[in-house]
Amino acid sequence: MIFFFHTCLKCGRQINPERLQVLPETRICKECAEKLGTDMIFHRTEVGMDPDTYKDLLGAIRS
Ligand SMILES: [Zn+2]
Repeated sequence: MIFFFHTCLKCGRQINPERLQVLPETRICKECAEKLGTDMIFHRTEVGMDPDTYKDLLGAIRS
């Protein structure tokens, strides 16, 4: 399985290390966060992640 912790889930680019220091739980880069208007942070809920995020994650793994 090729899935890097510090890689943007949306565009696949590496997330800026400085950004990760500020937002260690983010899974998307600054550019995508600005496009979405929010940071995609995985909250530790009962579900674990929302369905759309999960689909993106599966797509990233399988591609
Ligand atoms: Zn991105």
